[in-house]
This record gives sequence, structure tokens and C-alpha cells, in this order.
Amino acid sequence: MNILVINAGSSSVKFQLYDMREETVIAAGKVERIGMDSAIVTYEPAGKPEVHAVEEILEHTTAIRKVLDLLVHPAHGVLKSSSEIEAVGHRVVHGGESFASSVLVDEEVKREIKRLFELAPLHNPAHMQGILAVEANMPDVPQAVVFDTAFHQTMPPVAYLYPIPSVLYKRHKIRRYGFHGTSHAYVSERAAALLGRPLEELKLITCHIGNGASCAAIVSGRSVDTSMGMTPLEGLMMGTRSGDIDPAIVPFAMGKEDLTLSEVNSMLNKHSGLLAISRLGSDMREIQQAMADGDANAKLAFDMYEYRLRKYIGAYAAAMNGLDAIVFTAGVGENSAPLREAVCRNLSFLGVELDETVNAQRSSAERLITTPASRVQVLVIPTNEELVIARDTYQLILNRRSVI
Ligand code: AMP
Repeated sequence: MNILVINAGSSSVKFQLYDMREETVIAAGKVERIGMDSAIVTYEPAGKPEVHAVEEILEHTTAIRKVLDLLVHPAHGVLKSSSEIEAVGHRVVHGGESFASSVLVDEEVKREIKRLFELAPLHNPAHMQGILAVEANMPDVPQAVVFDTAFHQTMPPVAYLYPIPSVLYKRHKIRRYGFHGTSHAYVSERAAALLGRPLEELKLITCHIGNGASCAAIVSGRSVDTSMGMTPLEGLMMGTRSGDIDPAIVPFAMGKEDLTLSEVNSMLNKHSGLLAISRLGSDMREIQQAMADGDANAKLAFDMYEYRLRKYIGAYAAAMNGLDAIVFTAGVGENSAPLREAVCRNLSFLGVELDETVNAQRSSAERLITTPASRVQVLVIPTNEELVIARDTYQLILNRRSVI
């Protein structure tokens, strides 16, 4: 069965086509700058040369049409006909309290995703455009939605409620939702497999450290707390997001600097984090290079980033009253040996003993980076959110078939 995985943004569509027999990616690519006369199309069919094109693509329906044309193209295609795509799975950022697992798309699901626009105004409308664009091009193909928030719906109220008037939760659903759920779920399962222990027995802290960053406390495979909140702004210091700050800074800074709400929102989401402290950029590679060259701001940015991550690890070890393993994943987590080293060096009180040689290896392989004597294991596990979306979609289709 072939499953097309779509991640639709406001001006981009990323895709991967999976053959679920072996869970292999048979084609991948993206359409960027949708809405412009010079949209960029990148297409990578397995075993064939890449295709790059620049053309006018003004909306998502045309972008999906373009993807389907490429997939069945006589020279570059990997399918004879688009009818070989049996289902489409979409990443959807916000499922609110309505979705604790992935679901097949129907009219009610679409209505609910629309109702959730106000919780994820930058993401959910774009995902909906993706769903409608697939529907327009392939009206008979079933679609599934896989939510970033769903995995964290197992959090107890003590973790998901904010200590503010409860009317805000009752009327407006203001609470912690958490994000990166597909990634936290995937790496926690992989961690159990690598440790050779049942997930049900484990207390894990998974650190998804990419441009956006969050960590999760996972007991018996269930998320019990996570650092992102009602929005992805809360929690860890990130590339351009502040993470946790005193909320009173918002009205204070607005008054002092004459900022509007939208300006302060943009400041905290786009002009803070590593970028603000290093004054160089948001990319950890750049920060590490500048730090090696003796740049004091880069060093401060790195140290704050590490310190704030380590504080969360300590907090979650206490929240779970124990810890078996820490997992690093995503762009920084998978690739930054210096960050992992700095975090682990300061977790010796938990019994973490890093194997510095394995940690320093440049490798994209899943691996344990602690010594056999380490009381808490630390793992590096490349995340694969697209695979989770493909698997969930596949499972939903199989379940539907067995019901019919
Ligand atoms: P993601 O959001 O998971 O795609 O992560 C993207 C981020 O990973 C980039 O902005 C970089 O900061 C970081 N990154 C990628 N490669 C490396 C590397 N070799 N060393 C340190 N950070 C890296």
C-alpha cells in the first residue's frame, strides 16, 4: 500500500510517498513559495535523478496537482497512476482536546480542525488548505490527520492546567497542549527497543531539540508532562523563541518600548532565543563555530540553552520520581555532540556517565552514548515524524477495511 504523507504550511507543501510493505520512501520533495510566480519545486524519486523547477504555483491545489504529476511522470515518476496512492496522511499541529489519536478525515473532523484555528492560527489553516487541495485532486482517496498534540493528551490536569482563573480554561480552553507529539512518541518507542526493555517499565525524558524544541516526561509510554504549552512558545529556549519568561515582561516591555501585542508576539517568537543572545543567528552550528572562535555572546547563548534544557531534565526526573533514560532527537539533539556533552556532564548527580567517544561520533545511527556503568542511559535517536504519520494512516485504513 502506498501512502502519501503531506505537511502543508502556509506557503509550502512537503511530501513523502511511502511503500508500506517495507516502510520505504519511494519519493519525497517539496513545493515552496506557493502564492508566488516563482514557486520552487524539489522532487527526489528514489533511485532516479532529482528534479528542480521554478514555476507559477498560486495555491495549494495546484501544488498538490504538481506533486501528483511528478509522481506519475513518464521519466521521473515512481507510479504508473495516482490511483496507486491508497491514502494520504497529513500532519496537523493542533488537535486541541478533541483529538487524542489520529483519525480519518470526514466532515466533522474538518469542522473540528477549523474550530481549532484560533489555537494554532499560523498552522491549522494551512493544514486545512492541504486537506482541501488533496480532496480537490483525489476526491475518492481517504485522508488521515495526525496531530502534534495528540500524544500529550494523556497528561494529568496537574500538568496541563495553568494556575490562572479556571474560567479561562472553561471558556477558552487555555491549557497546556504540548507539541512534537509524533516525535516524542516515536523516539520513546525506539528507546525501549534499543534498551531491550518494555516501554511500560520505563521512565523517559525525550528531548526534541530542533529549531523548535520541547522535552517530554514519559511514564510507561504515556506523556505525563511536556515543556511546550498552549502554544509552542513555552518551555525551552529555542532558535528564535524565548521559551519560559516572566509573563509580566510582556506588559512591561509593551509600555516601555511602545510595542503592540503583535510586535511583542513577534519579538518572543521570531527575535528571541539563540538569535537574541548570540546576536548572530538561530542556527546551533553557527553558534558553536563562533564559540570556538572565542565569541562571548555565542558562548552565553549556548550556556543558557544548555542550562535551561538541563533544568527541565531535573524537573521531569522529579516529576516522575525517577528516570531510566534520556533521549536526544531532532536537528540539534541528533547532531550537536557539544550540547549533549554539556548537559550530561552536569547530570552526574543522576548517575549519568557519558561515553565521550561514542557521543562525539558523527553518525546518523541510533545509539547509546553512555557507559555500561551509567545509572541513567542516554540515547541519540533520529526522529521520523513522517514515518509515524504513514504508519498511523496505514493502520486507520486497515481498521476501516476490517470494519467494512
Ligand atoms: P530541525 O528543526 O529538527 O530541522 O533542526 C534544525 C536545527 O538543527 C538547525 O537550525 C541547527 O541549529 C541544528 N543543526 C543541524 N545540524 C547541526 C549540527 N551538525 N550541529 C549542531 N546543530 C545542528
